[in-house]
Amino acid sequence: MNPLIEPTLRWFRENQRDLPWRHTKDPYHIWVSEIMLQQTRVEAVIPYYQRFLRELPTIADLAVCPEDRLLKLWEGLGYYSRVRNMQKAALVIMEHYNGRMPESGREIQALPGIGAYTTGAIASRVYGELLPAVDGNVLRVLTRLSEDDSDIAKERTKKDAIAWMTDVMQDGVSSEEAGTFNQALMELGATVCVPNGEPRCLECPWQDACGAYAHGTIDVYPVKAKAKARRIEEKTILLLQDDNRVVLRKRPSRGLLAGLYEFPWLEGYVSRKECVAFVRSLGAEPLHVEALPEAKHIFSHVEWRMKGYLVKLADAGAGCLNGGLLVPKDEIQRDYPIPAAFEKYARIVQLGIGAEEVRKQMDL
Ligand code: SF4
Repeated sequence: MNPLIEPTLRWFRENQRDLPWRHTKDPYHIWVSEIMLQQTRVEAVIPYYQRFLRELPTIADLAVCPEDRLLKLWEGLGYYSRVRNMQKAALVIMEHYNGRMPESGREIQALPGIGAYTTGAIASRVYGELLPAVDGNVLRVLTRLSEDDSDIAKERTKKDAIAWMTDVMQDGVSSEEAGTFNQALMELGATVCVPNGEPRCLECPWQDACGAYAHGTIDVYPVKAKAKARRIEEKTILLLQDDNRVVLRKRPSRGLLAGLYEFPWLEGYVSRKECVAFVRSLGAEPLHVEALPEAKHIFSHVEWRMKGYLVKLADAGAGCLNGGLLVPKDEIQRDYPIPAAFEKYARIVQLGIGAEEVRKQMDL
């Protein structure tokens, strides 16, 4: 691996993408970007990253941000425990480190929600620590390079890769280059040794050393055991609206999508008649009921398969229905975090969720 270090750094300097978080050495900014980038594409993260830092420019701001606002800033990124953990870590930083990110990998990794990967990404770039940052992209490149058939879903495989990269960095990477080396490996996986489709081996600085390229076994690596089948849940989503307001309810404070807001829904696929009965049970009178297209949303262990109805309500009064709130649409758009699982239905009532909406707000 050591003869590959210099070509890898050179390749990165010449080919890296221009991304907002590459222009900073602020550990808070790098932390925000790294947490957002877990499970989300770079292009989608950019507007979220800019909005988050505009609104919460310091760790102190993150520590005191009200929960609904925090979730709204994360709306559409999914895995909401990530941002809740960031806030927990921010509180620890305020209490024990005077609002400044601790300056050693050991202390950073002790913060809530920060694992070896994020620690390596921050500590190598900001403090020059020789700590690797091994994510899925890096694992893929390494297993192809070495034709390693270990299951990349196993913690052991990741630990071995971390140990390998720690040795490589300590033997052949300077402290000044530690962050660049980590970013180079991630960039190689994200843009050249790609997960879906053909890797661009002819542009790869590792081509001459790569076992999978030499033996035509690229398709074999990385090896990943098949995940367990997801549980399927069927739901009927109800878009209940009067002239300018839509009914929302708050999800429980624990479990999937805890604390976010959603449109009311019923288990299974219900008939129009059952839908009408439900609306009446809320204390409202339906004027018009229209069936909506189906939608699907995949979580890590569950898959929602949804049908829906759009229901125009007769005068629904003060705004509080049994178990639900009638909220003006502009307030929902501004203040109420709704999970991306409902995106297709939200669009039907002119509400936007996701990177496109954030881009619009940021005028990008
Ligand atoms: S040569 Fe191809 S398979 Fe090997 S690391 Fe480079 S891009 Fe990946």
